Parts: sequence; structure tokens; C-alpha cells
Amino acid sequence: MRIVTVIGARPQFIKASMLSSHLSTKGIEETLIHTGQHFDRNMSDIFFSELGLQAPQILLDINGDTNTRQTARVMMALEGQLRQNRPSAILVYGDTNATLAGAMVGAQLNIPVIHVEAGLRSYDRRMPEEINRVLTDNLSSLLFCPTQTAVKNLEREGIQEGVHDVGDIMYDAVLHFAGLAKEESTILERLQFEEKKYILATVHRNFNTDDPARLKAILRAFKQCEETIVFPMHPRTKKMIAQFELNDYLQSRNMVLTEPLGYLDMIRLQAGAKVIVTDSGGVQKEAYFNGVPSVILRENTEWVELVELGWGKLVSNDSESIVKAIQSAQAGESKENPYGKGNTGISITDHIHAYLSNL
Ligand code: UDP
Repeated sequence: MRIVTVIGARPQFIKASMLSSHLSTKGIEETLIHTGQHFDRNMSDIFFSELGLQAPQILLDINGDTNTRQTARVMMALEGQLRQNRPSAILVYGDTNATLAGAMVGAQLNIPVIHVEAGLRSYDRRMPEEINRVLTDNLSSLLFCPTQTAVKNLEREGIQEGVHDVGDIMYDAVLHFAGLAKEESTILERLQFEEKKYILATVHRNFNTDDPARLKAILRAFKQCEETIVFPMHPRTKKMIAQFELNDYLQSRNMVLTEPLGYLDMIRLQAGAKVIVTDSGGVQKEAYFNGVPSVILRENTEWVELVELGWGKLVSNDSESIVKAIQSAQAGESKENPYGKGNTGISITDHIHAYLSNL
């Protein structure tokens, strides 16, 4: 049994680390192809070393470019690889260009596609990620949903076969690495932070970074906050702040800027934060897993349970609303975790094993 896994971006390295180890214990051989979307030390290498993920066997080195061109280039490169060395299935994670490219090439070559994090919908087609999700789900044979909401979303689109609610693999990761992060990360000491006395912010979605008015409103809100804000800057965000000449907003007494952080530092910072402000899919959930309220810098979210339970609050793009939301953020309901029990990696592995055994 051999599968090819296609990954290319930071959150995919984290998700893959939670599944790869289980696959090998079940005798499923995995070839890891890294598309190269995130390629430098901070965005890629550190995750492989910290999370114990095997180095990719194949590195495609495809980054930059428009979404269409990046997807097409990955497709062309993948087609060559998969024709040469045909696996039993191709596995993709989430909603990036690598996800869609993997699914398209798999489907064209009649290789079954396995989608981890299937069924999520923001119902906002302005997001390139939403387009990638819808198309990938339509091309997949095995669809691993993180929530019941995701299962229902697929049902509404007529997709029922091969669908499994297995919980969220990122919850596995937080449970697995929280203890290690507490032991090994020195980020709070390095920044001289006290628990619950700072806010953690991340921003990288294109609708926030590529719109100067919106980006400015977010940075203005950060500047207006009384609390210290630690802001690990995504390379795209850093580039756009410079391009729109918004650097002055970063020169504020309460702003602590860092490079993108490794996962252990990030989990440690999340656990100690008073509030987390983010447009990241992964980070808004990790806030909840860590019992920290979040302010979500978006009009909608595919992780609707966070808003329903009151842990996440969606905010529009004016500075005043953002500041108000940060100041009034509080814990939500403590009902049963809608993202499963933290055994998603094992559950997915069992399903894949059963599926491949029957091919
Ligand atoms: N993350 C990290 N360092 C950072 C920012 C994020 O390790 O400086 C982690 C974060 O904890 C989460 C994942 O990266 O596990 C989320 O990735 P990202 O926000 O890039 O993508 P999204 O989840 O929005 O697709």
C-alpha cells in the first residue's frame, strides 16, 4: 500500500505530522511531495524538525505567482511524478493550491483522492480557499470531515459516499504538542511576557492584506489597544505593509513584532494569551482549544461552531469595532468539543487502511 501526500503550506506540515506517524505503523507507505509554496526556514523547515515530520522525498520548488498559475504549475509537475510512480491513492489537506492541484491530477489519472479537512464552507467564493475546497471535495473518494457541520455541507451538495466525521486533526496536534511547548518553548521569557497580559495577533488572508484600507484599519486598531500585542508577521503581510507604506502603524509602544514563529512557540504564546486576534483558520480554532477567546478578522468563517459557542467573534473592518471586540472578548460556552476527541490521526488511518485493502 503506497500513497502520495501533497503538502506545501505551514498548516499542512502540522496536519501531516499528526497523520504520517500513524500511517507507517499500519504499513501504509507514504511518499511526501512538498510543492514549495512555503519554503524558507520560518515557514517550512522549522516545522519538519520540530514536529518530527519526515523530510519530503520530492521538493517541487513552486512558489509565488497567481493562484491559477501556481496551481497549474503544481499540476504539471505532479502529473509527471504520478505517471512515473503511480500510488494507490493521493492524499491532500485543507484548501490550498497544492490541495486542488493534487486532487485534479489524481482525478485525471484515475487515482483515488483522499481529502483531509473536507466539507468546510465559508460560502464566500471571493476566497480562493473556498474554490479549492469545493472543487477538491467534488473530486475526492474519501472525505474526512472535522465536524458534523462539514458532513451536512457535503450532504447538501449531494456528496455522501466515502464521507467520515473523524474530528479535527489540528486538535490532535494541540493535545500532542501542548506539554512539549510548555517544557521547551522560552518565548514568554524571551519577550518578557506575563500570562494573560498580552494579545496575540496574526493576519495573512488576502482580503485583509491586499486591501490597503482594510489593512490600515486592522493596524490602527492594534495601535489603539491598551494591551501589548504580539504580532508574528506572515511574509505576505510584511510585504503588503511595506508596499502600502503602513510601517508607521507598527511603530507603537504596545506592538511587539516577530518573524513567523515555530509551532511550539506559537502554541505556548496562544496558551498564555488573554485574547487572540486572527484571520487564520487554524489559529481561531487553536484559541478555542487553549481556552482563549478570539476575535476573527473576517465576515464569515468555515469554523462556525466557534461563533455559535461564543468563543469566536467575527468583526468587520473598521478599527473601532475591532478594538471594541478585543476589549469585550470573553470565554464562550463550555459544551462538548465539536472538533472531536483528539484521535483523528488514528481514525483516518483506519479508514484509509480499510479503503486501500478493498481496492
Ligand atoms: N502558526 C505558527 N507560527 C506562526 C503563525 C501560525 O506555527 O507564526 C501555526 C498556527 O499555530 C496554526 C497554523 O500555523 O497551527 C495555521 O497556519 P496559517 O495561519 O498560516 O494558515 P490557515 O490555518 O489560515 O490556513
